[in-house]
Order: sequence, then C-alpha cells, then structure tokens
Amino acid sequence: MSNCIFCAIVAGRAPASVVLDEPDVIAFMDIRPFTPGHLLVIPKRHASGLAELPPEDGAKVFAAGQRIAAALRASDLPIDGVNMFLADGVAAGQEVFHVHLHLVPRRAGDGFGIVARAQSPNRTVLDGTASALRAAVEAYRS
Ligand code: 5GP
Ligand code: ZN
Repeated sequence: MSNCIFCAIVAGRAPASVVLDEPDVIAFMDIRPFTPGHLLVIPKRHASGLAELPPEDGAKVFAAGQRIAAALRASDLPIDGVNMFLADGVAAGQEVFHVHLHLVPRRAGDGFGIVARAQSPNRTVLDGTASALRAAVEAYRS
C-alpha cells in the first residue's frame, strides 16, 4: 500500500533497523520502544488488520516472533521474559494499519504494563458467553 509506513520499510523506501528478513516476514526495532529490544514482526504482504491477514502469513509472523523471543532471551540484553502483543483495531490501540506483532522484552520493575481491572463473572455468565462465541466461531470455519 503506497501510503503505509510499514510497506515503505518492506520496500526499502523508509529506514528501519532490521533484525530478521525472510521472504514473507520482516522484523525491525520499534522506533519508540517500551523497553530495550522492543521490536515489531510484520508480514511483507500488506494487511491492515487480522481480518485481512492470510492465516499462512499469520503463522509465519508468529513463528518468527517465537524464534526472536528465544533469541532475545539468549541475548546479552537483560531480559527475563517477553510479551507478545498485537493491537487489532482502533479500540485495541492500533495506530499503524499494517498488521504487526510487538515483541516486548521484560524484566522485573521495567515499568511496562497493561492497565486492566479483572472482572469476576460467575459460571453461568461464562457459559453463556462461551455458547454465543462457539456459534460465532463455527460461522467462521473455513
Ligand atoms: P500499534 O499501536 O499500532 O500497535 O503500534 C505501532 C507501533 O509502531 C508503535 O509502537 C510505534 O512506535 C511503531 N512505529 C510507528 N511508526 C514507525 C516507524 O516509522 N518505524 C518503526 N520502526 N516503528 C514505528
Ligand atoms: Zn502496509
């Protein structure tokens, strides 16, 4: 997509600090890292969100993310854990509309966190939600 910053990175029209470059996937450092080593894994083929992403590309993005997460942990960076994070949609915090998987290296006290208040629904509510979702998931079977 011509006006997509991540497509520009894929095409070499915009600079990036590349960590992994494969035929269908590229990973590069996030320009505004949450923690040292924060990087993004993206499919080279443009997809604005998960609904547009071919599952094969999603599988390759995740596999690359899994490999890089292991490499981060084995690296000299002070990393004790890794969060994977993907924002799909404005309400989820997506700002760049080319699918990307965040890999955020973690260590105790690094200040990174997701602000959330856990709810306590009873089993009836959980079962009701699961039932509605089962029907929705069934409708999306390929
Ligand atoms: P989102 O909120 O869409 O999940 O995250 C977008 C991420 O892309 C942000 O963490 C932001 O710092 C990063 N980002 C935005 N523009 C650029 C860019 O031009 N180059 C790189 N490397 N990262 C970018
Ligand atoms: Zn793009």
